[in-house]
Amino acid sequence: MTPAGIAKYAAIIAPVRLLLFSDIHSNLEALEACLDAAPAYDRVANLGDVVGYGGSPNQTVELVRAMEPINVRGNHDRACSGVTGTGDFNPVAAEAARWTRHELSDRNLDWLAALPEGPVCDPEWPQLQLVHGSPLDEDVYLASAYEAGGAMELASCPLTFFGHTHVQCAFAQPAPQPGIRPRSQTELLQPEPLPSAGRAQLWRLKLDNDHRYMVNPGSVGQPRDRDWRAAFAVYDSDSRSVTFYRVPYDIAGAQRRILDAGLPKVLAMRLEAGR
Ligand code: ZN
Repeated sequence: MTPAGIAKYAAIIAPVRLLLFSDIHSNLEALEACLDAAPAYDRVANLGDVVGYGGSPNQTVELVRAMEPINVRGNHDRACSGVTGTGDFNPVAAEAARWTRHELSDRNLDWLAALPEGPVCDPEWPQLQLVHGSPLDEDVYLASAYEAGGAMELASCPLTFFGHTHVQCAFAQPAPQPGIRPRSQTELLQPEPLPSAGRAQLWRLKLDNDHRYMVNPGSVGQPRDRDWRAAFAVYDSDSRSVTFYRVPYDIAGAQRRILDAGLPKVLAMRLEAGR
C-alpha cells in the first residue's frame, strides 16, 4: 500500500478499544463490578437486554445511558418497554418483564423503546458489527459452532459481536474462498489465559486476517455457563485482540434486590448457579 493509501485506510478505520457489555439484565451490582475491573477504553458497546430478570432496572438503565454506548436492543428491552409482547416468554420472564415495565421511569422506558434492532454498524469501524442474537434474526440463539457458522457465512463483515445466549465464547471460520463452505469448518475457540488483574480472571484471543469471527462477551448480569461471575470483554483494534473478563460481584446484594422487589425467587437462585 502506498503511504497515501495507508493514510486513507487509517482515516477510515479509527483505532478503538471497545468495552463490550451484553445481557446486563438489571443487575446493578454486576455492572458496577465490571466497570471497576475494566481497563482503559474509548467506547462502550451494549449488545442488548439491559433490563429484565433483575431488581434494579432504573439504576442500571441510567448507568448504561451515562456511558453513551453504541446500542443494540435485546428481546427483553423490547418486551419491558412494550415494543413487543411477552407471548414468547416463559412465565417467570414474563412476570419480571411486567414488573420491570411498571417500575421503569417514562424517560427510561422511552430510551429502551428507541433502541435499534441489530445489526448495528458504525461507519468508523466498517470491519465489525453488533447484534443481539444473530445477524440474521435478533431473537435467534447462536449456541453451537454450527449455528454460529451458518450466520457467519452470510455476515457482511469479518467480526461480529453478539449476546443473547449468556455464554462467553468465540467462534471462527476461514474467510470465504471459492468452492468452500466454511460453515462446516467453524470452530469454538479456546482463548489463552492471562495473569489475573485484581479479582478479575482474564483470557485473550488474537484475531487474524484469514478468519471471520463471532464473539460473545458473555452476560454481565445473568451468566448461564455455570460460572456465576459477571462477564464482559474488550476489543482492541490496534492489537487485533479480544480480552475476556470474569469478575466476582456482590451477588448477595443483587439477590436481595430481586427478593425485595417480590420477583420470583428462582431469579435470585439462578444467579449463584450461573445458569
Ligand atoms: Zn438476555
